[in-house]
Amino acid sequence: MLAAGDKDAAALHGPNVQALSAEDLSALRAQRRDALLARLAATPDSRYGRGPHRLEALPPLSGADFAAEVEAHPPFGRIRLVPDPLIRAGLATAAVPRPTPIAWTRADLDAEAQLGARALRRAGLATRGRSSDCLDGGLVTPGTLAVSDALDALDALALPVGPVTGAPALQRAAEVWDIVQPQLLVVDAPSLAFLYGTDGYPRPRTFAVLLTPADAAELAAPARDDVCRILSVPQVCSFVAGECRVRDGYHVAEDAVLAEIVDGGRLLLSALTRSLTLLRFDTGLRGALDRTPCSCGERHARLRF
Ligand SMILES: [Zn+2]
Repeated sequence: MLAAGDKDAAALHGPNVQALSAEDLSALRAQRRDALLARLAATPDSRYGRGPHRLEALPPLSGADFAAEVEAHPPFGRIRLVPDPLIRAGLATAAVPRPTPIAWTRADLDAEAQLGARALRRAGLATRGRSSDCLDGGLVTPGTLAVSDALDALDALALPVGPVTGAPALQRAAEVWDIVQPQLLVVDAPSLAFLYGTDGYPRPRTFAVLLTPADAAELAAPARDDVCRILSVPQVCSFVAGECRVRDGYHVAEDAVLAEIVDGGRLLLSALTRSLTLLRFDTGLRGALDRTPCSCGERHARLRF
């Protein structure tokens, strides 16, 4: 057995970022935010208009605003603050009135993979662990592509089986799960709802469930020991925040996302490093941020719904 201290360190995928002191974390957030504002100033034809910009002065961007921006300025809207080539596209479907194209650069995908590894490590998946996912493939995000990248970054085994929301799909998946015995199943809300109350398959130690703003009730429900919830808002970040083993709030990826609570509870998110940059995106969720230390050792603020 590992000593408690080792166990804490081992529970974090990126301790040099996740366990920064409060001062260092605050400095990192300020640095990322200043760099973002510099990119914004250098992109005067963005939808955010000519500067000078203060982030807090920008009006919140609703899902309807975002969808309208993309439609008026295809294919991705005037929100591109980093000119690197876009190498993957998908459809955001949560917190928008209709499926809306989004895209990533190489650097965006690499950053998302690390954040995904961080979230899955928090869910208890070790390096070289075995997992399987029941997410959509193809266009819809968050999907199996994002999770495969994260597992890659964790040197863990990926086994995509597609959505499992009925007996025939479960029978097919169970045949391979019987052989591979995944320790972690990565699911979305519909697959979790079906699998959690069903038997006839090797039950994993933990379900890691990717929830979007469309799953507000599931995000706010009491925590469960065998379910580790992750908030995904793919147009901002596929792995915005996730529960740790303490199961007392969702640690925000504060090196990648700026979370703000306005008007007594509305959660706004800004992408700090992404090429296609949504600023002050209104998730439609209501929550609170807690900066008190968490016993898991991670210092990033916790979000509660
Ligand atoms: Zn924690």
